[in-house]
Amino acid sequence: MTARVCITATMPSTRTCIIPGEHLGTCDGYKHRTVDNVTTRVMRELPDGSSEAAQCRGCTPALAIRGHLCDSHAAKLDYALRPFDGSPTLLVALMAHLWEADSAGISDGNDRVSTAYGSRVPIPESRITANSLADALNAVHLSLASVAPAGMYPPRVMPSTGLPVHSSTRDVAETVHALTGYLLDHEPIAVNTPDVAELLVPALAITGQAFRRWPLNEEPHRTKHVRCPGCGHLAMTWNPPLYYRDEVRVECADCGTIADQTWLEVYAATVRVNSRTA
Ligand SMILES: [Zn+2]
Ligand SMILES: [Zn+2]
Ligand SMILES: [Zn+2]
Repeated sequence: MTARVCITATMPSTRTCIIPGEHLGTCDGYKHRTVDNVTTRVMRELPDGSSEAAQCRGCTPALAIRGHLCDSHAAKLDYALRPFDGSPTLLVALMAHLWEADSAGISDGNDRVSTAYGSRVPIPESRITANSLADALNAVHLSLASVAPAGMYPPRVMPSTGLPVHSSTRDVAETVHALTGYLLDHEPIAVNTPDVAELLVPALAITGQAFRRWPLNEEPHRTKHVRCPGCGHLAMTWNPPLYYRDEVRVECADCGTIADQTWLEVYAATVRVNSRTA
């Protein structure tokens, strides 16, 4: 019997999880890429502008240690599903954070919020990511529901149009909580069913990228161009929500005036309008 390998080995458009330094008998020591059935060596650019063939760092697929997942994927799954502060799982906290992170971005007056696809209404990137993650989780959920025995509660499915724009953070958190709860209840089936395991891979990839880009433990920081409504100094300090239902707090380091998110958003909007008309 051959040992099971990580499901990524059977996913053509996904990088296969490998054992670093271990090579297949067919390996010639170089990295290859196959596009339209044509396999070529991957070239690596050198600082002097020339290039050389990139070396293979390992091409033996990683063994699956839990169902169809390798140790790295199993660890990512555990991490995403572990309890976190005020949230049932880290994934729920992350989704709630992504849903809110945009307003924190706006509030700085730094114009960090970019628009999607030339849309007139700015869609913060964190929300686009929240929707991709929701879609990926939904796919896992639907696939799992098709193989899992009927549970105690019916699968709750995200609307096909994604998370409604006006959803409150609480709604988003509760929807994701239901999805991750279902996943936790049926985890052995999920990791042992190739179709479901295959869908977990992109969901975990988006989760990891989102964590790196919008860390949950955002540090308090001084806002750049925000004037205190009390003393007029540029001393407003932005404090992240401690829990996903908590509020952002903005406090003046000089006189202690406290403002809330709404005030900050109105302020930021005014600054933007002024700088545009100036
Ligand atoms: Zn190799
Ligand atoms: Zn893997
Ligand atoms: Zn002040």
